[in-house]
Amino acid sequence: MRQSSSPETARPAAPAAAADRVTPMMAQYVEIKAANPDCLLFYRMGDFYELFFADAEIASRTLGIVLTKRGKHQGDDIPMCGVPVERADDYLQRLIAAGHRVAVCEQTEDPAEARKRGNKSVVKRDVVRLVTPGTITEERLLEPGRASLLVAVARRKTGEAASLYGLAAIDISTGRFTVMETPQERLGIEFSRLEPREIVCPDAIHEDPELKEFWREIAVPVTPLARDGLDAASAERRLKEFFGVATLDAFGAFTRAEIAAAGAALAYVERTQLGARPPLSAPVRDAGSATMLIDAATRANLELTRTLSGERQGSLLATIDRTVTPGGARLLAERLAGPLTDPAAIAARHDAVELLVADAGLREDLRSALEKVPDVARALARLSLDRGGPRDLAALGAGLDAARAIAALLVRRGELPIELARAMRALGESDPDLPVRLNATLADELPLNRRDGRFVREGFDAALDELRLLQVDSRKVIAQLQARYAAETNCRTLRIKHNAMLGYFVEVPQVAGEDFLRDPWRATFVHRQTMSDAMRFSSVELGELEAKIASAADRALKLELAIFAALSDAVLAQAEPIKAAALALAELDVAAALADLATREGWSRPQVDDGIAFTIERGRHPVVEAALKRDGKPFVANDTDLSPPSTDAKGGRICLITGPNMAGKSTFLRQNALIAVLAQMGSFVPATSAHIGIVDRLFSRVGAADDLARGRSTFMVEMVETAAILNQAGPRALVILDEIGRGTATFDGLSIAWAAIENLHEINRCRSLFATHYHELTALGDRLDRVANATVRVTEWKGEVVFLHEVVPGAADRSYGIQVAKLAGLPPAVVERARAILGELEKTEREKPVASLVDDLPLFAVPQRRQSVVVPEGEPDGLREALAGIDPDEMTPREALEALYRLKGLS
Ligand code: ADP
Ligand code: MG
Repeated sequence: MRQSSSPETARPAAPAAAADRVTPMMAQYVEIKAANPDCLLFYRMGDFYELFFADAEIASRTLGIVLTKRGKHQGDDIPMCGVPVERADDYLQRLIAAGHRVAVCEQTEDPAEARKRGNKSVVKRDVVRLVTPGTITEERLLEPGRASLLVAVARRKTGEAASLYGLAAIDISTGRFTVMETPQERLGIEFSRLEPREIVCPDAIHEDPELKEFWREIAVPVTPLARDGLDAASAERRLKEFFGVATLDAFGAFTRAEIAAAGAALAYVERTQLGARPPLSAPVRDAGSATMLIDAATRANLELTRTLSGERQGSLLATIDRTVTPGGARLLAERLAGPLTDPAAIAARHDAVELLVADAGLREDLRSALEKVPDVARALARLSLDRGGPRDLAALGAGLDAARAIAALLVRRGELPIELARAMRALGESDPDLPVRLNATLADELPLNRRDGRFVREGFDAALDELRLLQVDSRKVIAQLQARYAAETNCRTLRIKHNAMLGYFVEVPQVAGEDFLRDPWRATFVHRQTMSDAMRFSSVELGELEAKIASAADRALKLELAIFAALSDAVLAQAEPIKAAALALAELDVAAALADLATREGWSRPQVDDGIAFTIERGRHPVVEAALKRDGKPFVANDTDLSPPSTDAKGGRICLITGPNMAGKSTFLRQNALIAVLAQMGSFVPATSAHIGIVDRLFSRVGAADDLARGRSTFMVEMVETAAILNQAGPRALVILDEIGRGTATFDGLSIAWAAIENLHEINRCRSLFATHYHELTALGDRLDRVANATVRVTEWKGEVVFLHEVVPGAADRSYGIQVAKLAGLPPAVVERARAILGELEKTEREKPVASLVDDLPLFAVPQRRQSVVVPEGEPDGLREALAGIDPDEMTPREALEALYRLKGLS
């Protein structure tokens, strides 16, 4: 990751002194650059954006383009590189992805105007826009299925040491604007849910020593803002002004931190868009507080939206995504990232899916109608920023057309669950004449840019048609002229051509050209150019024709641009109902997609309520199942029961799962977490039945050895994360611990796992799944009333282990490690030797079994009260254990430093 404001670009381009040796153009450049010190400056020169000085060096390195020189500045060469304007999007994308920000500086007058002021005068230029990761609108720079959020942070003190943070998220590409408030310890959870593209926050928060580590670890560019104008009062003023309201009360009751954050986000949008006005909706409170809390490590570990290696393919999201519109894909991702915690809201979503599961006809009709829906929200955003093209107008036409058709489908169905009924109403709120007008005006084939012209339908505007005819006609006239000249001069190879420098000209071979220089042709043809084998001439007739053609094209374009502006205004006048329709289309897409998924994959509606039940019948892991299916292999469904064993039980069950490697323990653990996430996001679930009491917080941790993909496989990380769970998990949490304790020596690991289970049982009292290869732990099942043992069945066939992937009550009889090793191809001699050693070890074990410890140890030496200090004083301390887990030879300098900080934290 790159650090926030890339320090290199922050360096001023060059001192402005020694003006006598600075050309007027360089003086202009330096002035503009000085006003935008934290951005790379794209300086428009003709068909190129040029970069100079340090900017040029950075861009040439990042983009792999040639670094050249242009003139001198104060005696030194000026490094320069450039990108062609028509391909600027690609280069912008790469610079943004590398964490840079770009100021786009355009020529704001015609160069001809500048020339009128004298030969040496510089074309006027100005920065028209700052391109930053969080404020992009270009279709090519955006991922269709992913929101593009800018998140601003503010905070308010709530006590001596406590503060609350306000977060405001703006998606400038769709106009969404949400705010929320959160305590410091949840900042990480919220950011991992929102996945912003860019974070902006006041200097004071960015520089706060307490948050330094946080900002460093977060893999998002952070842009610090100067404090001025970020207080709640200025923020309120700014918001009122933008939305044209006298008071913010109309939007809801917001806290000061929320208002300050919203104001900061808006200020940043205004600063980067320089006057252009994105179609922001009025801020609403984000569902954050009503969503399942899932920290970044759990998200990564469960591979919700990305796999551990960072790809979308293979994630839960990719596996369940059957949406057919970009807006639907974004909404699905958002819902998956933030499952709800209100049973009524969840049931409303299930109702919509259920209806569409039951009514296959409606579902199919909806889905085929939705397939024609383009990205309405983003097209609208581009139009309001005056960055739109003819295709954006057409997208709106097509989208609104489809919206009507879809509304009609729903009306015909009658009797709808609330979610669908609400969407239906929202679809019908825009002016029905607008799509008619758009379709009547726009041609069938459309250029990307409006300046390319020819996007207005023939027959729409008589004046425009006439001008176009003139252009077509003049082409004919030119062809006629060419034929006439050729006949008159007796030169059959005479051609009339066109280029940017000469305009229209007559071209003849060298020999014929010599003739043209003499009478009588001298009177008609004026010599312009001599090429190696040809000569070029102009003529009065040709000049007149050219002027006529050019002016016709010019006037035609002006007319088209006026028509574009009128259409765009008509669209923007409907911005609110269009946005509502876009959201409704996305909601319908998600509901129909989830129904399609449920139908095809045989998923069922879960029962979600306020209790703490967790009973799954024949549950499956959707991603593993899909992968097995591709290989033609079946997935073995399994039951789970973490519900309290009796009505007076003090919490949910802890299921302790043993079984050999490769048996399917990790898969089983994760499938239960995924089922909870799916149920609460409003989806059906891969099980024949599921009864889930709301999970308010989900934890998932994997023992160090499984954690290599994250590149920080230290035992320390595992322990820090386990500590977080034991300190934070409440009675409604769902905890998944996969081979915790395996990153250290056997007895250490066993002891830690043992103590952790006791803590979960007595103090956290939450529903938990715990996979372990320590068979000794199964003895706890007899002593702790809510601990149940389960094992994944294997059997032996001709000395080989066979995995049945079936989870059954009880404990594994042994670990089959040697059989698994044999399967993996360990040399036979090694396998034999291992068997012999195992035999010896088991004999010793029988003489003094660790399991008997259970009876020796007083039950629950664990303190009955929750403590912030993990280990009580006097006992073997965490610090020493943490130290024992560190292997300096295995660590990078950064890991070592991190470990040092953590140790300090433990002390
Ligand atoms: P463990 O954690 O016990 O070592 P995993 O959960 O990693 O085992 O599973 C190992 C492999 O077994 C998986 O990659 C998958 O291919 C297969 N597997 C796991 N669970 C099942 C199941 N329920 N049905 C079919 N195959 C399964
Ligand atoms: Mg495993």
